[in-house]
Amino acid sequence: MSDNTTLDTVILGSGCSGLTAAIYTGRANLKPLVLEGHEPGGQLSITTLVENFPGWPEGIQGPELIENMKKQAVRFGAELKMAHLNSIDLSKRPYALNIGKETIHTRTLIIASGASARWLNLPSEQALIGRGVTSCATCDGFFASGKEIAVIGGGDSAMEEALFLTRFATKVTVINRSENFRASKIMLERAMAHPQIEFLTSTTVEEVLGVDEKDVKGLRIKNRITGVESILPVSFMFLAIGHIPNALAFKGMLDLDEDGYILTRNNVFTTHNGETVPGVYACGDIQDRRYRQAITAAGSGCMAALEVEKFLEEHGR
Ligand code: NDP
Repeated sequence: MSDNTTLDTVILGSGCSGLTAAIYTGRANLKPLVLEGHEPGGQLSITTLVENFPGWPEGIQGPELIENMKKQAVRFGAELKMAHLNSIDLSKRPYALNIGKETIHTRTLIIASGASARWLNLPSEQALIGRGVTSCATCDGFFASGKEIAVIGGGDSAMEEALFLTRFATKVTVINRSENFRASKIMLERAMAHPQIEFLTSTTVEEVLGVDEKDVKGLRIKNRITGVESILPVSFMFLAIGHIPNALAFKGMLDLDEDGYILTRNNVFTTHNGETVPGVYACGDIQDRRYRQAITAAGSGCMAALEVEKFLEEHGR
């Protein structure tokens, strides 16, 4: 139980892993505080049908799955707060978290801040975000109704988005920088069989056209093998090229790998210069570059919660 000033546990992030951690720590009567973060509900909240989460033989919509998890966490005493971490001091316990005007003290911390969409980082792309350049098919697909569009990427996300976008767009061109696709066979086959979807491989986007008009007018693309450039006349560019872990706040405090994922021991125990940072655990996509599934995120959220319980018990709570 928490005293008035120091909480037993704070969970950063309200995606699949954070909410699972909230359910478990809630049931352990630890009254977890969940800071919902920049993208409440995480990646599932902007996805469509989730077909591989056990228990829903017909699939479940991502936002519905997240809403169910939130209700379940709240039922067991979790408090959800619309806030995100500004800065943190992990040098002494209890840990101090700054969330704007407020500082929160906590004995343990579960980092479940997930990962955010990756961009190409072309100046023209950045200038046109929200004006035809987007990383969220679920959010912006409708606006592509009756238009020709491009999806960038060659993984499962790109296939899923391309298929979803055929509901709106008249033609979807998937642009993959590599010759081979990273997508699973089943997703790739589905997309390839779709009459509205075309594919360009070994192709990069050099420039998004339309900066002056403030609206995407097309893409200047380049074949990496022949070096030939051409213009693809599309009105939208949907990015599906993976994600970047939201671990910047922990740089210098926790060990991160070369891509910024938190390095953990046994999936959940964070380390610092070879020593553990006591009572700080990471779960979900912020520490998982390999599996990145809803079910593995949920599983590691559960593990983090159980570690928190054990840690507090061992420290006399
Ligand atoms: P992936 O890492 O699998 O694929 C990323 C894709 O983006 C690759 O084709 C990669 O190309 C390309 N890419 C990366 N950076 C750039 C860049 N700077 N410029 C151009 N292209 C780039 O990410 P996903 O988001 O597709 O999938 C992540 C995980 O989520 C996977 O495990 C996937 O299976 C899973 N997933 C499952 C779904 C489902 O089961 N329904 C749906 C969506 C995702 P390259 O190969 O050249 O590096």
